[in-house]
Amino acid sequence: MNISIVGAGAMGSFFGGLLAEAGHAVTLIDVNEAHLSAIQTQGLLLDTDAGQRRVQGLRACRPHEAAELPDLLMVFTKTLHTTQALLGVRHLIGDRTHVLSLQNGLGNVEKITEYVPIERVLVGVTTWPADLVGPGEVHSHGQGGVRLMSADGRDHVLIATVVTAFSDAGLLARKDEAVWCAIWEKVAFNAALNCICGVSGSTVGQVGDLAESRVLAHAVVSEVLAVAQAHGIAVKPDAVHATVDHALDHHKNHKPSMLQDLLAGRATEIDAICGSVLRQGRSLGVATPLTEAFHALVRLKEASSRPAV
Ligand code: NAD
Repeated sequence: MNISIVGAGAMGSFFGGLLAEAGHAVTLIDVNEAHLSAIQTQGLLLDTDAGQRRVQGLRACRPHEAAELPDLLMVFTKTLHTTQALLGVRHLIGDRTHVLSLQNGLGNVEKITEYVPIERVLVGVTTWPADLVGPGEVHSHGQGGVRLMSADGRDHVLIATVVTAFSDAGLLARKDEAVWCAIWEKVAFNAALNCICGVSGSTVGQVGDLAESRVLAHAVVSEVLAVAQAHGIAVKPDAVHATVDHALDHHKNHKPSMLQDLLAGRATEIDAICGSVLRQGRSLGVATPLTEAFHALVRLKEASSRPAV
């Protein structure tokens, strides 16, 4: 396949690197000059459980420099940059281009369908981890997978093609008709751990070590899942609570991305996580006091990290 990835940071580069190694024509599109230039001159340094290697042959460019219409356009920016990124690559969306989002949070399909009809949008969730450790260098260790489906719920031919391409590249992908369950369950997990760690400045282990913060994490999960259930999504609360407990007990030193963003003075994905949940809660008549509180507190932390006038 001819694959373009807009937002080629940690996840975009990791997926792009593996897909290029599997023989696909991959273009990484980003606005990070140092990262693009490192890939252009030395290739992408990829460090996974399979070892460290340099992936050559990846095309890396700024949005306006990309010209070839891809079969698949993956959007892998942070959610707050999706609309700007799509605006920058709208000239690449041809009549046969499908657009896939595996970004976290809710609201990704709504943003993409501003640029491409819903029949050509794929949506999913990934549990692969990745870190951009420096320009042109991405690390991903541990196991993950990808679950995806068409945004309109129909079984398009391209789903099987993408699943095969991803799996052949080692990304362990599968079609999942219940993908919205997986998406909401991940939103609940992220609403709890990203927000509590982000607001308190704690690692996941520190949250798990204190009884009160542990209870709070599970209360946030329950609140988000109640909105999902009111929305008709058949989420499995026991499984999400168990995943949260596992993270609290085993991912002790992990600093969730929202905490990393706040520490670095960057805007976070809070709108796609808590913002979307509280808006849906309001429209469905489900109270979301914890989500609203964390939304406001993370917004306040974002604002406080900006220089005062
Ligand atoms: P990242 O910040 O490492 O990468 C995002 C990239 O988008 C950056 O390189 C940035 O320069 C680029 N970008 C921003 N605006 C752009 C624009 N207008 N045009 C082109 N490129 C632009 O983020 P990430 O960690 O790769 O996360 C991407 C998405 O995947 C997020 O939604 C995140 O929540 C999700 N996710 C991340 C992980 C992980 O382990 N990193 C795991 C699962 C899901």
